[in-house]
Amino acid sequence: MTDAAIVGTGPNGLAAAVTLARAGLTVTLYEKGNTIGGGLRTTSYFDTDIVHDVCSAVHPMAAASPFFRAFDLEARGVRLHQPDIPYAHPLPHGRTAAVWRDLSCTAERLGADGPRWTRLMGPLIAHTRGVADLLLSNQRALPRDPAAAFRLAPRVLAHATRRTPFTTEEARALLTGVAAHSVGKLPSLAGTGVGLFLAHTAHSTGWPLPAGGSGSIAEAMADDIRAYGGIFHTGHRVTDLAELDGAPIVLLDVGPKEFLNIAGDRLPARYRRALVRYRYGPGAAKADFLVDGPIPWADPLTGRAGTVHLGGTYAEMVRQENATVAGHATDRPFVLVVDPAVTDPARAVGGKRPIWAYAHVPNGDTRDPVELITRRIEEYAPGFTDTILASRGTTAVNHEEYNPNYVGGDISAGALTLRQVLARPTLRADPYTTPLSGVYLCSAATPPGPSVHGMCGHLAALSALRRHHGIRTSPTLRPAPA
Ligand SMILES: Cc1cc2nc3c(=O)[nH]c(=O)nc-3n(C[C@H](O)[C@H](O)[C@H](O)COP(=O)(O)OP(=O)(O)OC[C@H]3O[C@@H](n4cnc5c(N)ncnc54)[C@H](O)[C@@H]3O)c2cc1C
Repeated sequence: MTDAAIVGTGPNGLAAAVTLARAGLTVTLYEKGNTIGGGLRTTSYFDTDIVHDVCSAVHPMAAASPFFRAFDLEARGVRLHQPDIPYAHPLPHGRTAAVWRDLSCTAERLGADGPRWTRLMGPLIAHTRGVADLLLSNQRALPRDPAAAFRLAPRVLAHATRRTPFTTEEARALLTGVAAHSVGKLPSLAGTGVGLFLAHTAHSTGWPLPAGGSGSIAEAMADDIRAYGGIFHTGHRVTDLAELDGAPIVLLDVGPKEFLNIAGDRLPARYRRALVRYRYGPGAAKADFLVDGPIPWADPLTGRAGTVHLGGTYAEMVRQENATVAGHATDRPFVLVVDPAVTDPARAVGGKRPIWAYAHVPNGDTRDPVELITRRIEEYAPGFTDTILASRGTTAVNHEEYNPNYVGGDISAGALTLRQVLARPTLRADPYTTPLSGVYLCSAATPPGPSVHGMCGHLAALSALRRHHGIRTSPTLRPAPA
């Protein structure tokens, strides 16, 4: 019998397995899909030479994450390419706002808001490790670097409540565009927290793209798990805990809805009701393109950025995002665009390249997003349509069919509201435990929430090690000596 069963092989399931296997436990992983990786899969859709990231493409959270810091992707041969301009935001009338890794370069182009940007970001950059440790924690522990908390908290409060002190449309758009990654109401405390975290990491640990696509991160994690005896079963959707051969520790990289499917009858009625009350946010609808050249952005500066935010002005983004949260479909949604070959030229082969883009849409939206996203890109890059060789749309509803964790297309595995930052998925002293002895949740529906950082899985595994084996410190995660 295995010591621990893990259901789901997204970054959190894999991080949980790495942590347990490194502590000496035997681990068995079950995955619904035919390949492992969850949000870390890369595949070819149209042309065997060109690979596309199915879900995540850009990795500011992995670059900042304490788990990946210890796991050390680069030492395992995963090359992380860093764009000089992590993100850009084209504005109406041909202007582009951009964030360089270099803080002074960014400030120089922000006019009157340059010094304000420096004052906002500088202290966070100086404490970037403390800020990451704080935000990528179980949201229960005291901050290891209190100075980081003292710098972050007043900034979040000021920017979430006072709207924004910035006077230029450029600086306002740059901060609001990253806050929109929270896919929720704007302005809000959760959105501002996410925004300040992402914006300052653009100047510190960066927004890298792994060479060859996000799948290379999953492969590096799977290699480590196999090296320590872990076993994978793919093509197996677990529908009942009884399928897990009585494993004394079970870690579920699934959301509350799937947990109810797998364990519903065994759960106390009060806890079941709490899981049913868990709220989901807007959906994501994605378009993948095969194109025959770089995107013809009206401002060439936009084409130098790793990630491009298409949301227009501050006022437009607030209007669009709040309408989307309220369930109203808009024709001009917030869109994120990545041309991976800008950062990693090897992603373009024989003049062809992949384009990754997704739009924020209402939860459960069924519209094919290809036309919507194409029109949005055309606004800032006239002629884009002429470069398209092939395209493929994934609606919000398709996202849930692909992965039960994305309920209604919510790729954050649950709305990122202030309440659900702490009570994720329910309010418990140890957020990874459940009323079932030995059964833990470890997906992005637990703290610290969505994105590829592996911390939900790592922290859930540490909780299990402490409770079942009395192990109180993390095992070493460094690559094994050759
Ligand atoms: C379009 C898109 C773009 C994104 N872009 C980014 C980005 O650029 N950067 C970033 O950091 N994050 C991004 N994300 C978010 C990121 O992918 C997720 O937050 C992250 O993958 C969550 O990890 P997880 O391990 O909790 O779950 P997931 O990655 O969702 O993995 C869960 C796994 O569990 C499996 N599973 C579920 N139920 C069962 C079951 N009953 N039995 C067996 N297996 C099961 C699923 O098939 C899946 O493989 C994006 C997501 C999407 C969809």
